[in-house]
Amino acid sequence: MVNRTALKASPEWRDWKWQLRNRIRTAEELAGWIRLTDDERQAIEATKAHFRWQITPYYADLMDPDDPECPIRRQVVPKMAEMTDADLGIGDLDPLEELAHSPVKNLVHNYRDRVAFCVASECAVFCRYCLRKRMVGDGEYAMNKTEIQAGIDYIAAHPEIRDVLLTGGDPLILNDANLEWILSRLRAIPHVELIRLGSRFPVLNPFRITPTFQDLIGKYHPVWFNTHFNHPKELTAEAAEACDRITRAGAPLGNQTVLLKGLNDDVDVLKDLFQGLVKMRVRPYYLYQAQLIGGTRHFRTTIEKGRELMRGLRGRISGFAIPTYVLDTPHGKVPLTPDGFVERDGSDIVVRAYGGETWRERNPLDL
Ligand SMILES: *Cc1c(COP(=O)(O)O)cnc(C)c1O
Repeated sequence: MVNRTALKASPEWRDWKWQLRNRIRTAEELAGWIRLTDDERQAIEATKAHFRWQITPYYADLMDPDDPECPIRRQVVPKMAEMTDADLGIGDLDPLEELAHSPVKNLVHNYRDRVAFCVASECAVFCRYCLRKRMVGDGEYAMNKTEIQAGIDYIAAHPEIRDVLLTGGDPLILNDANLEWILSRLRAIPHVELIRLGSRFPVLNPFRITPTFQDLIGKYHPVWFNTHFNHPKELTAEAAEACDRITRAGAPLGNQTVLLKGLNDDVDVLKDLFQGLVKMRVRPYYLYQAQLIGGTRHFRTTIEKGRELMRGLRGRISGFAIPTYVLDTPHGKVPLTPDGFVERDGSDIVVRAYGGETWRERNPLDL
C-alpha cells in the first residue's frame, strides 16, 4: 500500500502538474490505494477499448480502500456493469446531438445567444458516467491552436453570441499561458459579454487553482465559473481553498451535480452536499438527470425519484442551496423541479406549500 501520510506531507503533493503526471493508470498502481475487487480488476481490462480511466493521487486518496460502493470510487473506478449495459452501442454516445450542433470543431451552438466550446478533450480524471464519453480522452478531439482559432473566429463572426462557455474535456487541463491566449482573444470580441469556465479541477485536482490562476481570471471579467461536486466526501479543505480563490478572484462560482444512483440519490446526501457547497460560497446551479450514455445504466435513476428528492429539499434548506433539476435534450435544458402551482379556480390560484398545505391566492384574470 502507498504510504499516504508521507506522500501527502511531501511538497509535490500540492503541485497540480505533479498530480497530473502521477495519475494512476494501471490496476497495479491502483492496488496501492484500494483493495481492488475481482469485478474492478476485470473491468479495468474490459473497458479499455471503450473509455479510458486515470485518477489523480489527490482524488484516489478520498476513496475508501475497503468499500467498492464508496461514492468517490464508483465515480472513477471501472465496473463490469459498464460492459453489461445493453445500450453500450456507439449510437448512444451523443444523445444531445452535439455533433449536429457543431458548426466548427468542438463548438456547440445550440442556444442562440451562447455556445459551449470544448477547448480541450482531456480531463484530470475520467468520470465513468461522462456525458462526453464520445470525445473525452480521444486524441481525435484534441484541439490545436488553429482549431481553437477557428472556434474564436466563428464566435467573432456571430454577434448574437454573448456568452461563451469554455468546457471540454476540461479547459483547466491547459496551462495558464494557453488559457490566457484563449481568454484574451475572447475578451477582445466586443459582443462577448460573459466568459464561463466549466471545470472539475476544484474537485479532482484543486491545486490547479493557484494564486497565478486566480490573478488570471481576475483579468478577464466578467468570468463565471461552474464546477462539479457530486458528493459531500468531495468537500475537502483543499477543495474549499480552491473555491475560495475562485470567488476571491471575483468569479461567481456555481456547481453542477449529476444525479447518480446509489451515490447521491438520497435526500440527506444531497442536503449535506448543497449545504456544504453554500458554506464554501458555491451556489448549487443544476442537478442533472444522468443522460442515456452507453455503459452508464447502473448510474441512472428515474426522473420521478429525482423530482421526489427535489420535493424533499424545498423549504428544508436555504433557497439558494437548491439547484434546478434539469434534463438536457437536443432542444436545450428542461427544468424538472416540481413547482407549487396546482390550478386556477375562478378568480383564485391554488398553490401547494412545501409542507403539503394548499393555499388560495386571489388572482383574478381581469386584474
Ligand atoms: C448547458 C449548455 C449551455 C449553457 O446553458 P445555461 O442554461 O445557460 O447554463 C450552453 N450551450 C450548450 C450546448 C449547453 O449544453
